[in-house]
Formats: sequence, C-alpha cells, structure tokens
Amino acid sequence: MMTRRQRIISLLEERDYSVSELAMALELRGRGSKRLILEELKVIQRIVKRDGKVLLIKPAECRKCGFVFKPEINIPSRCPRCKSEWIEEPRFKIEVR
Ligand SMILES: [Zn+2]
Repeated sequence: MMTRRQRIISLLEERDYSVSELAMALELRGRGSKRLILEELKVIQRIVKRDGKVLLIKPAECRKCGFVFKPEINIPSRCPRCKSEWIEEPRFKIEVR
C-alpha cells in the first residue's frame, strides 16, 4: 500500500499534473482537497531533494491577459494585472537533476 504522498510522487515522476488533476487521479473530492495537495507538494519538494530529484513548477498563468505568476506551490485566485479570475493552474513534475 502506497501512502497518498507516495502516490503523488509516483504520478509526478510520470508526467506533469495540476493540483486539480492530482485531486482527480487520487479521487479526492471536497473543499479541502486542493489545499491538502498543496501541503503535500510542499513536503514533497523538500523530501525528493534527498534522492537527487527536483519538483519542477510551471507557473500559473492568467488566461485572459497572459500574466505569468511566480513559480510557487500555490493556486492564485486573481490576476494582479487585469483582475481576472480565469487562472490556469500551475503544473508540477518531478525530475532527476
Ligand atoms: Zn490577467
């Protein structure tokens, strides 16, 4: 039996995922599920380093004006430039350095 954290790691070693896609893959539903995955990703970012791996972050992007956010483990709710809430989520992937 893999833990949820181990499942996230093995998924992210295969390809990149957004937090919503991870929630679907793990069959996590409900209000807290995205926040829970974000917390897991923060831990994963630290622990994969021990194995010489790195959590890559493709930053969130505003789908209205194209503004690119900082590459952070977070889902921004609103664009600082145009105030749109139409945000493309960041994507995460684990790679060997
Ligand atoms: Zn924008």
